[in-house]
Amino acid sequence: MPPLRPRSASRSVAIDVFKFGGASLADAAAVRHAIELILDPRPSRVVTVVSALAGVTDALLAVAESARAGDVDAVDEQVTRLHRRHAQVAAGIIGNARVRARLLRELDEAFEELRTLGHGVASLRELTPRTKDFLLVRGEQLSARLVVAGLLARSAKAEYVEAATLIRTDGVFGGAFPDLAATDREVRAQLRPLLKKRVLPVIPGFVGGTPDGALVTLGRGGSDLTATVLGRSLRAQRITLWKDVPGLMTTDPRLVPTARIVPQLNVREAAELAYYGAKVLHPRALIPLARVRVPVFVRPFADPTAPGTEISVRHTLTRYPVKALSIVRSQALVTVTGNGMLGVPGIAARTFSALQQAGISVTLISQASSEHSICLCVPAERGADARAALETAFALELSRRELEGMDVQRGMATLAVVGLGMAGSPGIASRMFTSLSKAGVNIVAIAQGSSELNISVVIAEPDAEVAARAVHDEFQLDKIGGGGLREDDRLDVVLLGVGLIGRELLRMLPRVRRRVKPTIVGLVDRSGFVFEPDGLTARQLAAYAKAKESGGALAAMRGGHKGTAAEAVAYIGAHALARPVLVDVTAHETLPAIRAAIVANMDIVMANKRPLSAPRVEVESLRALAATHGSRLLHETTVGAGLPVMDSYAKLVETGDKVLRIEGCTSGTLGFLLTEIGKGRPFSESLRDAMSRGFTEPDPRDDLSGMDVARKALILARLMGFGGDMKDVTVESLVPAAYRRMPLPTFLMSLSQQDAAWADRFAAATKQGRVLRYVLNASPKKVEVGLRAVPLTHPLAGLRGTDNQIVFTTRRYREHPLVITGPGAGPAVTAAGVLNDILQLTPS
Ligand code: ADP
Ligand code: ASP
Ligand code: MG
Repeated sequence: MPPLRPRSASRSVAIDVFKFGGASLADAAAVRHAIELILDPRPSRVVTVVSALAGVTDALLAVAESARAGDVDAVDEQVTRLHRRHAQVAAGIIGNARVRARLLRELDEAFEELRTLGHGVASLRELTPRTKDFLLVRGEQLSARLVVAGLLARSAKAEYVEAATLIRTDGVFGGAFPDLAATDREVRAQLRPLLKKRVLPVIPGFVGGTPDGALVTLGRGGSDLTATVLGRSLRAQRITLWKDVPGLMTTDPRLVPTARIVPQLNVREAAELAYYGAKVLHPRALIPLARVRVPVFVRPFADPTAPGTEISVRHTLTRYPVKALSIVRSQALVTVTGNGMLGVPGIAARTFSALQQAGISVTLISQASSEHSICLCVPAERGADARAALETAFALELSRRELEGMDVQRGMATLAVVGLGMAGSPGIASRMFTSLSKAGVNIVAIAQGSSELNISVVIAEPDAEVAARAVHDEFQLDKIGGGGLREDDRLDVVLLGVGLIGRELLRMLPRVRRRVKPTIVGLVDRSGFVFEPDGLTARQLAAYAKAKESGGALAAMRGGHKGTAAEAVAYIGAHALARPVLVDVTAHETLPAIRAAIVANMDIVMANKRPLSAPRVEVESLRALAATHGSRLLHETTVGAGLPVMDSYAKLVETGDKVLRIEGCTSGTLGFLLTEIGKGRPFSESLRDAMSRGFTEPDPRDDLSGMDVARKALILARLMGFGGDMKDVTVESLVPAAYRRMPLPTFLMSLSQQDAAWADRFAAATKQGRVLRYVLNASPKKVEVGLRAVPLTHPLAGLRGTDNQIVFTTRRYREHPLVITGPGAGPAVTAAGVLNDILQLTPS
């Protein structure tokens, strides 16, 4: 006997099974897109399974219901609407007038037949499961015909294959399961020859045949099952389910906005998830693949370049014991109680078989450890049937009072968590229960699957969303996959500080000319924060900015939360963000918030000078923390606003130069003030002018004290290796001692008292042919800032208004230092500098 060849070796060409989901097939453009995907050149042959056009199965169900109710007018109207919809799609995919006319005639016939069928049901007022299926299969048959017509119109060889003879089933109307061996035979006989002739077969999904040849459906979402059954029989190289979601996600994204794509799931995990109600896959879709290694891909129809989710025999992401969770709503909890259950074997088995015979699917079963009761969940609308079935099955026990009775509670939901890693990690259940109780969710019943692949709980339906979010957070599912949904095309910004600079930045962002525009996901101020993982809208941002401008606090605004900046950043950072950046445009002590951001793997952009001029140990530990997390710290605007000071410094050093000294005027505020006074204006008037233009720190004494310049000097000196602290910087304050401690309003009231002293100072300098400038002078050894009378010939004497000047003396630029001059204060230039830093972090 010749050696048996492995089955796969007899495969001549690789086969791809594509399934186009209903949600994706909305209109003619979508059908054209599906056709493009089928025709996209590839070495494999494509077998296509299609769902009904979006919403059509529901519409056909409505026709069935109208017919059952005897409402002929409603039937007519609904059929007409469906007819029009399909005709529109047909017209939108076929250009050739003759071909189009033929297709439209076919549609006329198909809908006439549907109408007749509806009228027939209406006159009998009876709808058997068989007739209902006979009606429902039309959605898939029609869309498959449309796809075939579209392919033929593109000169492709395509053929419609009737599913009734191809997918052989057990014949259970409304939820048939394929007979795999029989289907294998049909596939060999019907599909293989087509593939050999390079014909593209198109098969209506969701549809099968009963043993006696009638049409039957595979249950809602059944096209997934059609695809996997065919993929199995054909030993396809892969099965691709094109859907309206970016992949199989950690949970239903409509329920939990931070849901993430799971890049890979083991088949057992995905099967469990489908079985426990994740709507994304038909509950039994993966059963046919239990013994064959055909990977399934769930991919976004809208973005065919995205990888989606791979479902295969691999086991990855082992750090996550729980990979996904699902919620099933509209459940009824049936409880069977009684002493008679104690030790009596087979109660559970009898319960199951009673329900199975009544055609009721049980989504969860849980037995109390006392064996005093059994709880199970069934779809809410079958609650009464379940009770009746059980009362019949246990009539004897009930009459003998061995069973106390049956209780049916409607309004329940089940929540299941799934993951292969659960078996090996203790404490998963308790984490789940604790997170639920913290969220205030009451657990009505608990069940653990015998596979240890899942834990399910029954909760009240109104708690479903809160429960899903709590469990999703507990298992950090918003972090799965590392990159998340929007890795490539997003950069999420958390804005710390919504003052003048922050608001200016918000105004500038929409005008960014980049493929990827930064998205503001959070705003943080001293009171608290607002956060929207999908990004705050332009309208929301404008409203917050306006409210901040008139002195409001974020915590008190719509959607606002209370908290310190560090708490806000930690909370926000626990969500799935894309390339998150914390932008600090405050003038506060923000080190704790910045550290929290780094721990959450954010990059940092700061205009705030305080963090980097903090005590040396703190700055060193901050830089070390950033290094371990790979966070970048950009702070161009800490010195000279938007002027390229840090950038120039970095370039000098990178090219091997050594900076020996940095001098300059780095306070636009003091520059403005001193030039104004130099023109003969009183000090008080000049300062008020500077404040009203937004040139000063909120408390102008931060500028006048020289502290602002001293901080800049310290930041620059530290770049050069200065090992000291602020106490080692010599600072000359321009605020007389008597004015340093008074409250800000009092200080502002008394400004004119200082006018005379200032006028005298200027007069003395003028007499010597000099001008007054507030100057910083930093070297690796020594840092000084203070008022200097500089000769008129000195470059610093030529500075006007808020202009800054920074002078680098380096090994290369020794005789003629490198000088950078330009506007160095004001919200606009500072915000522009901050934006520049943000854009450095943004993918181009
Ligand atoms: P198809 O178009 O193939 O029939 P479905 O509509 O059946 O696709 O499945 C996709 C829908 O499933 C999504 O719109 C989504 O709301 C829902 N869904 C539920 N759970 C998940 C999950 N874990 N991942 C992705 N989608 C999910
Ligand atoms: N059209 C059917 C449904 O809506 C089957 C499917 O889409 O898979 O359930
Ligand atoms: Mg579906």
